[in-house]
Amino acid sequence: MKIKAIGALSAAQALEPMDISRREPGPHDVQIAIAYCGVCHSDVHQARAEWAGTLFPCVPGHEIVGRVAAVGSDVTGYKEGDLVGVGCIVDSCKHCEDCEEGLENYCDHMVGTYNGPTADAPGHTLGGYSQQIVVHERYVLRIKHPEDQLAAVAPLLCAGITTYSPLRHWQVGPGKKVGVVGIGGLGHMGIKIAHAMGAHVVAFTTSESKREAAKALGADEVVVSRNPEEMQAHTKSFDFILNTVAAPHNLDAFTALLKRDGTMTLVGAPATPHPSPEVFSLIMKRRSIAGSMIGGIPETQEMLDFCAEHGIVADIEMIRADEINEAWERMIKGDVKYRFVIDSATLAE
Ligand code: NAP
Ligand code: ZN
Repeated sequence: MKIKAIGALSAAQALEPMDISRREPGPHDVQIAIAYCGVCHSDVHQARAEWAGTLFPCVPGHEIVGRVAAVGSDVTGYKEGDLVGVGCIVDSCKHCEDCEEGLENYCDHMVGTYNGPTADAPGHTLGGYSQQIVVHERYVLRIKHPEDQLAAVAPLLCAGITTYSPLRHWQVGPGKKVGVVGIGGLGHMGIKIAHAMGAHVVAFTTSESKREAAKALGADEVVVSRNPEEMQAHTKSFDFILNTVAAPHNLDAFTALLKRDGTMTLVGAPATPHPSPEVFSLIMKRRSIAGSMIGGIPETQEMLDFCAEHGIVADIEMIRADEINEAWERMIKGDVKYRFVIDSATLAE
């Protein structure tokens, strides 16, 4: 089927409207009419070839929500009309150790929602800045939030799970002091989720203007990381720090804030490396620097259910499809509170 999308023809070009095709649903496929798609900083990194290996045309978008439009003959979990989501993963090998544990995100053959290998035209996957998507049922998520929150649920499919997964893995909860660095799309979800898990949450921002806003999101304290005295006051006090910053920066300023045995986990994926961290800062307190990538499918469902139960959605600014280039520029400047979401109905206009 032919549908409308917005994408880039090269790294140097702005996004533009284009027609793309989707496969007819196979026996295990779910065809989804996309209602909204969130705008992740990864979309920019990929389409502008800031990361290696971008394939063009590039249609980004991996925070997809909508309604089931059709299902294949063997699909049992979903039916027409169901409210569903698709995140960053649309396929994987399904039988390795990672897939068997529900950690498809770490499968060596994981297929991303865009820029991944596929038999479908044009030979790589095309994402959610489009009207429809066809996905194997294993990678489809069920949405239990009230329908009027659907647009604000979209960012949970990447920003939500990318912060939920490490917060769970490093056992954040009551009695733990947790830092969230970078209050953008991921960071604002990290604050909301860590707060709901019962932790004492400290937000780190470079933007003085976000000081009050971060408290409204659920932060117990806010530190403007450009102020050395404010940073100093938290020396050796954190159990865990989640770093979502999209640009290279000095990591030592944050590892110095970890207690003995504390961990800072990096989820931000900048185009160029951070300066090498100071080894002595790690050795002296048995501190760790770790990484984490999105989350598996069962954990993504768990996160959606957790957020539905706790009334958590993203803070969004809705845009029309033809406002996407301006939205990217604003996101790069940190001028969004806190996630742009495309109203997919405007793709038809
Ligand atoms: P975003 O909305 O642009 O937020 C990033 C935030 O980082 C900004 O709002 C800003 O927060 C801070 N920041 C940006 N530039 C900075 C700089 N030069 N120095 C210090 N702080 C800076 O981006 P996002 O969508 O949340 O994504 C964040 C990063 O995570 C991106 O690199 C993205 O590709 C990556 N990502 C990784 C995964 C994964 O699986 N690991 C998944 C999704 C996204 P303040 O204004 O508060 O300082
Ligand atoms: Zn993302």
